Amino acid sequence: MREESFDVVVIGAGLGGLSAAGYLSKAGKRVLVLEHHTVPGGYAHEFRRGRYRFEVALHAIDGLAPGGWAADILEELGVTSAVRFNRLDPFYTVQFPEHTITAHANVFRYEQELIRHFPHEAEGVRKLIDAMQQVYWDVQRFSIDGEMKRRPPMAGIPAAYSHMISAMGQSWGEFMDAYIADPQLRGVFSTLWGYYGLPPSRLNASTFILPWVSYHLFGAYYPEGGSMAMSRALEQTILAHGGEIRYRQTVNRIEIRDGKAVAVETEQGLRITADAVVSNANPKDVMLKFVGKEHLPSEYGEKIAGDAPAVSNLVLYLGLDRDIRAEGWPYHELFVAEDYDIEGDYAAVMAGDFDRAGMVITNYTESDPGCAPDGGSVLVAMTLAPWDYADQWGTGGDLTSYGKRPQYLELKQDAADRLLTRLEERLPGLRASIKHMEVATPLTNYRYSLNPGGSIYGSEQTVENMYMGRLSEKTPVDNLFLTGAWIIGGGMSAALLSGRSVARRVEGYLDPASDGAGGLLPDEDAPPATAEAVETSNEQAEKPSRESAGAPAAAVSPAASRLPGGSLTAAGSKREFQRHALPGPMLFVCHGENNTGAVAVVSEHVRAQIPDPAELLIASCVDLRHVPRMFRAIAQRAMGQAYEKTAELIPADLDPADHVIILPDWDGAVAKSLGFTDVSKEAGVGLVAADGRILGAAQGLDGVDALLQALRNEG
Ligand SMILES: Cc1cc2nc3c(=O)[nH]c(=O)nc-3n(C[C@H](O)[C@H](O)[C@H](O)COP(=O)(O)OP(=O)(O)OC[C@H]3O[C@@H](n4cnc5c(N)ncnc54)[C@H](O)[C@@H]3O)c2cc1C
Repeated sequence: MREESFDVVVIGAGLGGLSAAGYLSKAGKRVLVLEHHTVPGGYAHEFRRGRYRFEVALHAIDGLAPGGWAADILEELGVTSAVRFNRLDPFYTVQFPEHTITAHANVFRYEQELIRHFPHEAEGVRKLIDAMQQVYWDVQRFSIDGEMKRRPPMAGIPAAYSHMISAMGQSWGEFMDAYIADPQLRGVFSTLWGYYGLPPSRLNASTFILPWVSYHLFGAYYPEGGSMAMSRALEQTILAHGGEIRYRQTVNRIEIRDGKAVAVETEQGLRITADAVVSNANPKDVMLKFVGKEHLPSEYGEKIAGDAPAVSNLVLYLGLDRDIRAEGWPYHELFVAEDYDIEGDYAAVMAGDFDRAGMVITNYTESDPGCAPDGGSVLVAMTLAPWDYADQWGTGGDLTSYGKRPQYLELKQDAADRLLTRLEERLPGLRASIKHMEVATPLTNYRYSLNPGGSIYGSEQTVENMYMGRLSEKTPVDNLFLTGAWIIGGGMSAALLSGRSVARRVEGYLDPASDGAGGLLPDEDAPPATAEAVETSNEQAEKPSRESAGAPAAAVSPAASRLPGGSLTAAGSKREFQRHALPGPMLFVCHGENNTGAVAVVSEHVRAQIPDPAELLIASCVDLRHVPRMFRAIAQRAMGQAYEKTAELIPADLDPADHVIILPDWDGAVAKSLGFTDVSKEAGVGLVAADGRILGAAQGLDGVDALLQALRNEG
């Protein structure tokens, strides 16, 4: 095995990997990209047949107008100086049974068009578009505030960015409910659902809204030379800054030593040692196979294993010997919907009903004239498609040489024929004009990208699995980071953004003095109050000060005589505490995010008198009732990490699970029953007997002595 060394190794040259490698090489790091395929770009690439050049994936990219989220990236990485991007006008046309609607590049004209077709919903349409813009502004401000380190603490986030938080926590269907009711209009408005792969009932509202606004307000673009031109320009930037890309290198192992990734190995016999590793490859392979579950916390492994890949697609690439544009075919992008019911459309996709599933027809000769010879056209038809169709496209799951097997070829041909028939209804004589035809199935996507399920958007973009619920670019392995659609969500501009965000994080890791501010996404290190809380409390443990920790105590009348039933699970140790069968008397220090020193102060004071936890346990009870549901997973993870760090400080002969007890009080039930309405400024301390009886409570830390007296009285 040949061994080499770099500062950073990037696995995969999709747009996420290329963007990360571009930024890191520009920052002076020695970067090596290892790519399984023979060309850069991942899905952002092309293939050629004769004089025809076929775009593999891109229909339209967003975020490129000045102020758009990908504009700076393409500028900084030298793409805009090498590639010309044309704004698509109109963006697309959609044919429903009774309505043919054009999405003009001017959003007000598009709004007018919708109102013309659905006049009874005029007010709803306007309000819906306004509401979508508010979500977009909130997200942009959230991002900028993050970069300026000006975000409010966790508790203030829902109020400061209320439109963003609300959209991130609901489905696109729920979001529409408040504005439009006409089922036909709901279908029409959701035309772009295929860009995200889930129907309105399951798709995260924000995932639909953000690119929708970006496309409709700031423009949909197509690069001359296709997405491959972008990928090649990114490749050039990496090379120009001393980086390297090696193709036909398939990573199959990441060696972990002392919690760090020390080397990356490929099937082809390369071994690369590096200070940091960035992966653009799918996390199922990277974390579960190349790293190995044994190096990961079990919940993390379970999350990755449980993440369902997003949908895949079936694409028909046609090189025609006729110029359909000259014949009067007016569309760059034509969506064909057989029905307004998008839920039904999704069901048809998942059933492999290619006669019924929504289809998009793209005439690339319109947006990229050089792709076909004079007098010819490149026409592409695409539907979403399931991986599991007909027992994994007739393979039964065995993909060895699948492309040559008759059963696969038959199914592929049949699916293609069904799309061709629908195409020919719109373009008579089409079959006779085909010079070249290629068909890509979900298995083709897998073969070239190694994305499980042939997924085109990473994991499913459900309400729960986006933003703070989605996998983070940070992993439990300190110097291993993730980028691409599995992290940020699908789309080319999103992948570019994710690459920049992870590059900043890697820079922050390699040079802690640098400013590793995150990008568009909520920065998971920043908001969770609980991580800061526990970490701060550790710092304060070294120099406790009762004065700084709170005002004089006031005895509080508990709201109940006992804690409510049920159990609490400690973060990190996962120790279960039955509220009516505690291991012994317990002191609950209830606090919020800005008064975390309270736990350390109480602990030091109490342990000076009662050193043995068997006589009295002390718990940090974090009041999380204000934390939005979508932030919970991340708060939980942060508390777990805080536990690990604190547990390391506990002498080896003691059980950390007795000494570090961090109890998330998700609904504030403990605090409320102890009589505390607000512990965010002043911590509350409650003494509870083993059977759950509340023996006393005080707000402010001077009340602790009275509680210890109550414990002695209890005997
Ligand atoms: C047909 C189609 C149409 C689309 N249309 C659009 C559109 O119009 N607009 C839009 O914005 N988006 C579109 N998308 C989605 C968009 O292309 C993707 O979401 C985005 O490009 C994903 O980028 P990524 O960075 O996640 O990497 P990917 O493109 O998934 O690339 C991952 C890379 O990692 C490499 N890799 C994987 N495993 C290994 C390994 N073990 N070792 C080495 N290398 C490895 C792969 O070979 C690949 O090059 C479309 C996708 C498809 C398939």
